[in-house]
Amino acid sequence: MKHIRNFCIIAHIDHGKSTLADRLLDFTGSVTEREKQAQLLDNMDLERERGITIKSHAIQMDYVHEGEQYTLNLIDTPGHVDFSYEVSRSIAACEGALLVVDAAQSIQAQTISNLYLALENDLEIIPVLNKVDLPSANPEEVTDDIVDLLGCDPEDVIPASAKTGIGIEEILHAIITKIPAPSGKVDAPLRALIFDSVYNPFRGVETFFRVINGSIKKNQHIKFVATGKDYSADEVGTLKLIQHPKQEIKTGDVGYLITGIKDAREVKVGDTITDAKNPTTEAVAGFEDVKPMVFAGIYPVDTEDYEELRASMEKLQLNDASLVFTPESSAALGFGFRCGFLGMLHLEIIQERLEREFDMTVITTVPNVSYQAYTNKHPDDIILVNNPSDLPEPSTLNRVEEPFIKASIITKADYVGPVMSLCIEKRGEITNQSYLTTERVELSFDMPLAEIVFDFYDRLKTVSRGYASFDYSPIGLRTSKLVKVDVLLNGNKVDALSALLHQDNAYDIGKKMCEKLKELIPRQQFDIPIQAAIGAKIISRETVKALRKDVTAKCYGGDISRKRKLLEKQKKGKKRMRQVGNVEIPQEAFMAVLKLN
Ligand code: GDP
Ligand code: MG
Repeated sequence: MKHIRNFCIIAHIDHGKSTLADRLLDFTGSVTEREKQAQLLDNMDLERERGITIKSHAIQMDYVHEGEQYTLNLIDTPGHVDFSYEVSRSIAACEGALLVVDAAQSIQAQTISNLYLALENDLEIIPVLNKVDLPSANPEEVTDDIVDLLGCDPEDVIPASAKTGIGIEEILHAIITKIPAPSGKVDAPLRALIFDSVYNPFRGVETFFRVINGSIKKNQHIKFVATGKDYSADEVGTLKLIQHPKQEIKTGDVGYLITGIKDAREVKVGDTITDAKNPTTEAVAGFEDVKPMVFAGIYPVDTEDYEELRASMEKLQLNDASLVFTPESSAALGFGFRCGFLGMLHLEIIQERLEREFDMTVITTVPNVSYQAYTNKHPDDIILVNNPSDLPEPSTLNRVEEPFIKASIITKADYVGPVMSLCIEKRGEITNQSYLTTERVELSFDMPLAEIVFDFYDRLKTVSRGYASFDYSPIGLRTSKLVKVDVLLNGNKVDALSALLHQDNAYDIGKKMCEKLKELIPRQQFDIPIQAAIGAKIISRETVKALRKDVTAKCYGGDISRKRKLLEKQKKGKKRMRQVGNVEIPQEAFMAVLKLN
C-alpha cells in the first residue's frame, strides 16, 4: 500500500489533460511504440473526434523512484459538466490531483469547479502550469493566479509542457512525494468504490473500482450495496493498456471486475462493492442515482422503423445506463420515445451513436428540462412534466416548479457588461461578483436550467468574444410562471413543436420561432401559414409562400431520365423530412427553438 499512488488530472477543457496523461504513460514506459496513438485514453471514436473524454477510465503505471518501485493509478475524469457526477466519483477514488492550468489561458470556470470537488474530497493538489512552450504563455502571471487560488507557494507550481516533455519528471516526483499513499484497513470486510463502468459486448459490463478496505479476490462472492444484487467475481485485474487478470486486488489499489453482467444499469457509479457473506456496515458516502436533466422526443424518420429504433435504444441503454426512455406518441410524428439525458452533449452523443452504430435516421424534438406541476385539485401530488404535453390545463394548474442551477462564469473585466446582460435576459439573478485578478472576474448567477439548454453557450461565446468559461451545478426547484406555446402549421397544431416557456419570454420567443420556421420550411405548392399560440390565443404569424412553378416543369416533355434524376435528388434532400399533415418539415425545424438568435 505504501507504494501505491491514486491520482486524477483535473483541468478546464483544452488545457492539456489528455496530452499530459499520454506523456505520463510514455515517460513511465507504459505504452509500447505500437500502441502509441494520439490521446490514448479517449478510446471511443466519438471522443477522439470531439477531442473530449466522455467516459472516465483508469490506467496503471509502474515507476521506479529512488530505487523503489511504485504503482501509479491514473483515474481519468470526463471533461464536461453533463458528467459531473462521474467526475466527483472518480475524484473520490483518489488521494491526489494534478491541477492543470494552461499558461496562456490561466484559470477558467472548470478549473475552479473541479478544484472544489477535489478539495471536498480532501485531495492533495499538485498545480501544473502547462503549455509553457507556447509563445503566448504568461508563466509569471498565471503562476500568481494559481498561487492566489490555492494559497500555495510559487515553487509548488510545476512549469510543464505536455507537448515537449518539460516538467514531466518533476510531476512524477511530486506525485510520489506529495500525494499520500492510500490508508485503508487490510483486515476489514471488502469495501470498494465503483467509479466507472464500461460495456463490453463480449465480456459484459466491466466495472472499475477502488478498494478502500479489505481485498477483492477472483471468484469471491460479492454484493453491490445500492442495487442489493450479488455476483461471483469471475475475473479481477489491473488496468494497463490492456487488462491484466490477477488473483486479488488489495487495499488501496484500483482494478476492474467482470461478473457477466449484461445490463449497464446494474452497475451504478458510486455504488459500493462488498463481500456477500461478510458485508461492510458502511457504504461509501456520496452515492447518487443520476437523474436525467434534459428530455426530448426521438422518432424514426420512417414510421416503419419504430421497432428497430426500440431495439437500438435498448442496446444503447445496455452500455449507457444514464439514457432513459419511455414510449410516447405524437399526433405529428407517430410512435417514438421520450428520452432523458444528462445534458445537451449527452443528447447529441446518443443521437450520433444511433446513427453511426445502429444506422438509424431519427428526428429529435425540442428538448426541455423536467418540471414539476401541481394542480388545484391535488395540490400535494407532483406531476412530472418531461414533455410539454404533460403540462396540466392552465385552468387547473396550481403552480409549476422548474430546476435552477448555480452558474459560474469567468471572463475578462471588459466583458462583464455583456455577460451580465445575457444572463439577466436568461432570467439569471446575480449572486456574486469577484475579481480574481484586475483583469479576470468570476460571476455567479442563479439561473433556470432551461435557459442553458436554449442556446446559452453560443451566445456566451459571442458576447465575450470567446473569453468566457462557464460551469454550473443544480440547486433545486423554484416556482416559475410557465406557459405552453404551440405551433400550428397550415392551421394544424404540431405537438412535436410545442415548447414550455416562461411567460415573460413567450411572446418574443413565439415570434422568433415563427420567423425561424419560415426560413426552414421549404416552399410547397400552396401557402403555409405558421402560427404560434398560447391556448386558443394566436401570438404570432408568418407565411411560407407557395412555389410558383412545378420544379419538374422545366424539363417538361424533355428526356425522362433527367426528370427521374431530379426527382431522386429531391427525395434525397428529403431524407430528414417529416410529412406532417400536408406539410414537409425538416429536422432542423424541430430544434429551431434552440437557435433563435
Ligand atoms: P484536454 O481537453 O484538457 O484533454 O486537452 P488536450 O490534451 O486535448 O489538449 C488540448 C490542445 O492543447 C491540443 O491541441 C494539444 O495538442 C494542446 N496541448 C496540450 N498540451 C500542450 C502543451 O504543453 N503545449 C502546447 N503547445 N500545446 C499543448
Ligand atoms: Mg481530453
